[in-house]
Amino acid sequence: MVRTARERVDDLFGLANVEATRPAPTYADRYVRLARRVGTRHNVRIPHEYRELYCRKCSSYWLEGRTVRTRFRAAHRVRTCLVCGATRRQPLRRDPARPRASDLADHLDRTPQEVLAEVPSDLDEEAAELGSEEEE
Ligand SMILES: [Zn+2]
Repeated sequence: MVRTARERVDDLFGLANVEATRPAPTYADRYVRLARRVGTRHNVRIPHEYRELYCRKCSSYWLEGRTVRTRFRAAHRVRTCLVCGATRRQPLRRDPARPRASDLADHLDRTPQEVLAEVPSDLDEEAAELGSEEEE
C-alpha cells in the first residue's frame, strides 16, 4: 500500500514535469496538488528532489522565469512564487570540504617562501624557483 502510493507520487511528478515543458502547462499544478494529496492520505513524504519543484503554499509547479523567480540575497536563496507571491528562503550552505578563511588564519604567520621551502624541489619546480628568488 505504501509502496504503491510512493509510485503514484513519482508518476504524478513525472507527469507534472512533462506537462511543464509544454507551451501551456495547464495540468502541471493539478498533478502537484494530487501528488501532495496522495502523500498526505497515505502518510508518504514527498521526496526531497520533488520538494524544490513546487510552491508549498499554492502547489504551483515551479518553472524558473515563468512561475518562480530566484534571487540570491544575504547568503540565502530566495524563491518567489509568481502565482501567489509566497517566498521561500533557504540558507546557502557552504561546502563543508572547503575550509573557511578564518580556519586558515593560523598559517598566516608564515611567509610563502617558508611554506614553499618545505616542498621538495623535485615535486614542484616552480615552488623551488620562488623559494630561491627570495634569497637573492
Ligand atoms: Zn504559490
